[in-house]
Amino acid sequence: MSLADRDKKHLWHPLTQHKTHPDTIAITKAEGCSLYDENGNQYIDAIASWYTCMYGHCNPYITTRVSEQMQRLDQVVFSGFTHEPAVKLSEALVGILPENQNKIFFSDNGSTAVEIGIKMALQYHFNKGDKRQTLVAFENGFHGDTFGAMSVSGLSVYNGPFEDFFIDVKRIPTPNGKNTNAILKLLKRIHESHSVAGFVYEPLVQGAAAMKMHHAEGLQTILEFCQNKNIITVADEVMTGFGKTGRYFASDYMQIKPDIMCLSKALTAGLLPMAITSCSQKIYDAFYSDDLKKGLFHGHTYSANPLACSAALAGIELLQSHVIQKNIQRIIESHRRFDSKIKSHPKVESTRQLGVIYALDLNIEMSRYGGLRDKLFQHFMNHGVFLRPLGNTIYILAPYVISDSELEKVYKSIQGALEIL
Ligand SMILES: *Cc1c(COP(=O)(O)O)cnc(C)c1O
Repeated sequence: MSLADRDKKHLWHPLTQHKTHPDTIAITKAEGCSLYDENGNQYIDAIASWYTCMYGHCNPYITTRVSEQMQRLDQVVFSGFTHEPAVKLSEALVGILPENQNKIFFSDNGSTAVEIGIKMALQYHFNKGDKRQTLVAFENGFHGDTFGAMSVSGLSVYNGPFEDFFIDVKRIPTPNGKNTNAILKLLKRIHESHSVAGFVYEPLVQGAAAMKMHHAEGLQTILEFCQNKNIITVADEVMTGFGKTGRYFASDYMQIKPDIMCLSKALTAGLLPMAITSCSQKIYDAFYSDDLKKGLFHGHTYSANPLACSAALAGIELLQSHVIQKNIQRIIESHRRFDSKIKSHPKVESTRQLGVIYALDLNIEMSRYGGLRDKLFQHFMNHGVFLRPLGNTIYILAPYVISDSELEKVYKSIQGALEIL
């Protein structure tokens, strides 16, 4: 029996309605930008397995470092103990994060990173004796699947059934270059009637909302407002972090830096699950006290796992390398050339790009989990390209090590898709 058949017996997959979902595909090997399935098919991983393995799959620079670490120290409690990989990683991160980020708190995944960001923001005010119970978030955001993260996410099939249990969240539109004053007015009104504790947002690109992009200037104005009102800003850079926007972090495009940042996905170069919530000294200081109760009593068993830390360290070294920075520029320019060819195609509604993130919207109505979407997906797989259309959006977010010929293959598969629709 194939793996795909045996899978059906006991496995329950994420984000899947098993009754209507097509068969799963068993992947047996990954290398560089390629995935290989159990039937010997090869696919270019053009979304870097949900934007995690940005330096390529099984990159020996990273796997060697992790296997060395594995021989020395595998896992240890991170309450009361520390270790070199965590210390070094904190130093490396503070070196590349926006200059106000100074403290590093570990967890396991993007959702928990956001959960912790929310708890830091809420407890910041609690510790100061300031009663603030409302959060603000962008419409159509996605921040993860735990309760706090679901609360700040836009309503969808993901979090709908749990709406009655959410934290109080008010939503504002994303800045589009024309609505900044209207957003400010709305924010003011919300803050006057509710006393806002924090603003949770994906800076510049909303990943799960189909790579929707918004204006840095408008976001800067919102952040300014928050800073003036001591509303704690929580930048969810789980998707945008580590070079994808053309800078180390999307927050680097704004002068005002977030109080708190959430990192995961590419943090560990796709090797191991880990997440980080970083914050400024101002946030940390609100928890630093002779009063035990003012501490942040949040922790996960695998916090700062040494193997995950060593993967992250090796990844950051690669990100800072000349080779990867050059690759990022090459991909940015390659996408621009592709864009100029495809944007006036009659089936293309609009296109957008920030850094190596490229997306195009088809001018065809399509549901997120519909037949047409499955047909598109199958077309790409038949052409040896793994792309996951989001509704009528096709996006590319490939590993930084993707070659020109692999990029060409991805572009050709998209051009071909426009012809079968
Ligand atoms: C993926 C994602 C999350 C959730 O991360 P998980 O590791 O899947 O829990 C949160 N925020 C953003 C912006 C993401 O892209």
